Amino acid sequence: MRKFKTESKKLLDLMINSIYTNKEIFLRELISNASDAVDKLNFKSLTDESMHVDQADLAIRVSFDRDARTITVSDNGIGMTAEELERNLGTIAHSGSEEFKTENAESQGDALDIIGQFGVGFYSAFMVAKRVRVVSRAFGEDEAHVWESDGLKGYTIEPGERAEHGTDVILTLRENVPGENGEEGENYDRYLSEWGLKDLIRRYSNYVRYPIQMMVTKSRQKPKPEDAGDDYKPEYEDYEELETINSMTPIWKKRREDVEDADYNEFYKSTFHDFEDPARTISFHAEGALEYDALLFIPGRAPFDLYSKDYEKGLALYSSNVMIMEKCADLLPDYYNFVRGVVDSADVSLNISRETLQQNRQLRAIARRIEKRVTSDLEDMRDNDREAYEKFFESFGRGLKYGIYASYGAKATELADLLLFWSAKEQKMITLAEYAKAMPEGQKAIYFAAGDDRDRLSKMPVVTGVLARGFDVLLCTQDVDEFTFQSMREYVARDMPKVYEDDAAREAAEKAVADGAEPELEDRHLELKNVATGDLDLASEDEKKEAEEASKEHADLFSAMKEALGDHVQKVAVSSRLVSADDAPACITTEGPLSLEMEKVLKRGPEGDIEGMPTAQRVLELNAKNPVFAKLAAAQEAGDADKVKLYAGLLYDQALLVEGILPEDPVAFAKNVCELM
Ligand code: ADP
Ligand code: MG
Repeated sequence: MRKFKTESKKLLDLMINSIYTNKEIFLRELISNASDAVDKLNFKSLTDESMHVDQADLAIRVSFDRDARTITVSDNGIGMTAEELERNLGTIAHSGSEEFKTENAESQGDALDIIGQFGVGFYSAFMVAKRVRVVSRAFGEDEAHVWESDGLKGYTIEPGERAEHGTDVILTLRENVPGENGEEGENYDRYLSEWGLKDLIRRYSNYVRYPIQMMVTKSRQKPKPEDAGDDYKPEYEDYEELETINSMTPIWKKRREDVEDADYNEFYKSTFHDFEDPARTISFHAEGALEYDALLFIPGRAPFDLYSKDYEKGLALYSSNVMIMEKCADLLPDYYNFVRGVVDSADVSLNISRETLQQNRQLRAIARRIEKRVTSDLEDMRDNDREAYEKFFESFGRGLKYGIYASYGAKATELADLLLFWSAKEQKMITLAEYAKAMPEGQKAIYFAAGDDRDRLSKMPVVTGVLARGFDVLLCTQDVDEFTFQSMREYVARDMPKVYEDDAAREAAEKAVADGAEPELEDRHLELKNVATGDLDLASEDEKKEAEEASKEHADLFSAMKEALGDHVQKVAVSSRLVSADDAPACITTEGPLSLEMEKVLKRGPEGDIEGMPTAQRVLELNAKNPVFAKLAAAQEAGDADKVKLYAGLLYDQALLVEGILPEDPVAFAKNVCELM
């Protein structure tokens, strides 16, 4: 027996047991080798006219024998001489294929599509096999040789028989290992079945460019006998047929203009199990230091489990048409988790397990490029096919917003312009940039209201008040909205007309424009403001003064009301939002970082019941122009403390109702209303 060259009983052990974490890839590796062998023969015949190879015959065949517990992978490729068996299979980490590629680097062009490069894939067979026998006959030789090994100490090479050039790799599978102590066992038998092998071939080797054939059992109806009576029941029989299992054409290797949309759609639906066409198909080929093809799809609708914990993001990763990983999560940022597709790069180290891939720099470079492509494609859809984009956003917008929130706003530069919100003024979905462009002069912030019902929001006094001043309000109905805005803090509107601080500068600029200069533009930083929190600073000087006077004049009333409401409110004050007699008599706003809506969202969450959860600091704002206010003032003046208390409670409760929050004591509320009647 000859010993493996390389130190490396140890190395072999490492190879077999730790490079690969997934045993089933052994078939992928053997098929890849067979494909390379066929490819080499094909290539040689193309460059050497004296060789007669019928391209149509080139194939890989997979078969199994249940009783003998063997799986055989055969090819009619270039084969190996005894010396090549020795060199390629006797030396771990020696790749004959890589050598072949280098030797033919000059002339290969597109003709050669070699997969192998590390010289370790073959040994993955020992993960499932206790014995591997390789019968090979090199093209142009008369003799065949047999290489055999148990994968432990060494191997033997002896003369053998093979009718034609090519190679058979015959694995004798290990015995099953029963599971114990709650640990899963190993079931090698599952590979000894037609469906088991077909499944592996389709999953990992579907796009290998040569046919992978298998003898499969099929069923057919027996011909009806001539003398069959009326009660004849059709009979069936099994028969065997050679079938090509793989589909061979990797659609992502084709150029976009050579593929029909229908074919892309079909590929998408069958590969990613969707019944709807994708909304967008992105296909590109990257050249340079890192070469790869990418075919990406943006689904037309969200899969049912997109927002569940079980959803796994990722793109299928291929290397030279062979699948490495079904869902490579590192290729997509979380907020683009809906993207499906394939990345194929001959440069990505193929024979490497998941764990190692995660730190792969090449992968990170590909991921960055993919992210950029998806972003620009979404921008394109937003600008040129708004209807489709709105549909997209309905399905996936929440994830984009969450992306900003989860990055503490860091991803806003990338994602903020992809967001859409409902404009109360325009009555449609708009972007933040569109909001900014439509702002009247002097508007300094983007205003939004948050709640779960658009209709209710549009009627809220705090909203109508801002609208009445001519400012648009974004009505935000997803629970993540306000958290997203808070993490962004501001939106930078690009290319806005420049605002001039002093008149002289403005006039000079206006004159310049009149003389034909381009108007000056600037980036404007716009605060994102909830119309129901804090000071909106919208009141005019006059209004401010009026409010101040009212506050002073009615200081007693406010303190009496505050006392009546106790800890429910932080304070009672004159409203700067509700300023006309037609506006509501009162509204609830908040001070500090937590809005009423955020409080609601947090309460719904898993920690909602925990004591000491922060609550929004409420302010009861009164409309000094509303007739109700006059009544309140009169009651206070008349010293009718009971009435002030009653009114205070009622105004507070109904302001909460408008916010969609039930009064804490609905019975008392109802009783109070009746009392007034
Ligand atoms: P790699 O494919 O990365 O080169 P492997 O360990 O899978 O590494 O295979 C080692 C070498 O053995 C190959 O490079 C090739 O030269 C040779 N080889 C393996 N399988 C075959 C085959 N079916 N026909 C011809 N040569 C083969
Ligand atoms: Mg290989």
